[in-house]
Amino acid sequence: MQVIILMGAPGAGKGTQAARLSAHASLAHISTGDLFRENLKQETALGKKVKGYMESGNLVPDELVLDMLFDRVSRKDCAAGYILDGFPRTVPQAEALGERLGDSVELLALNLEVPDDLIVERASGRLLCRGCSHIHHAKFSPPKAEGVCDNCGGELYQRKDDAADVVGQRLAVYHEQTAPVEKFYGAQGVLKSINGVRSPDEVFTELISHVPAKEKADG
Ligand code: AMP
Repeated sequence: MQVIILMGAPGAGKGTQAARLSAHASLAHISTGDLFRENLKQETALGKKVKGYMESGNLVPDELVLDMLFDRVSRKDCAAGYILDGFPRTVPQAEALGERLGDSVELLALNLEVPDDLIVERASGRLLCRGCSHIHHAKFSPPKAEGVCDNCGGELYQRKDDAADVVGQRLAVYHEQTAPVEKFYGAQGVLKSINGVRSPDEVFTELISHVPAKEKADG
């Protein structure tokens, strides 16, 4: 079983790259942000609990994230492994994942490095699809038709937490709570740093140099 963790600040390109990596390695793409947004959309009890944290750019408490994530990765499509996008974001989350996986799992943390000034520019133009969560960018990867997802034809929207003031808070939270997770994996010898200030294709080429390609198994 292989578990790949895509790390990096908000807007570093985790979502875009995780989707491509998922196809390349035939591993499920698990984004905790997408799972929370789905709960918000469906107005579930969990969605109501996490709304305030998300809209203010703060982290959802660890226990809520862990329950949701561990429930999701226990499904059949994660049996061979999975790609984590947006998790772990705190050292206790990383520790809880390590305890759950034990020693038999091959763990790889790929860290997309992008400076803060570029993060703000990337987040402010980001457009997300309501249908399939595909990510476009108004300037860097505009859709063929305005407001329409190239991937599935769904409606594109701007995330509330991509507004400039909220991005500032998310970056502060990232440096304070998530950057220590890099050290955690660095100390375990499983962290690879990737220069994220390049085109998505160039970043992807470097990412896959660390991840073997695999055909999707039937069924
Ligand atoms: P993302 O789409 O990964 O940027 O996540 C959007 C928001 O969901 C974050 O700003 C947090 O409020 C929440 N969130 C997602 N993943 C986590 C996590 N692993 N720990 C805590 N909060 C999270």
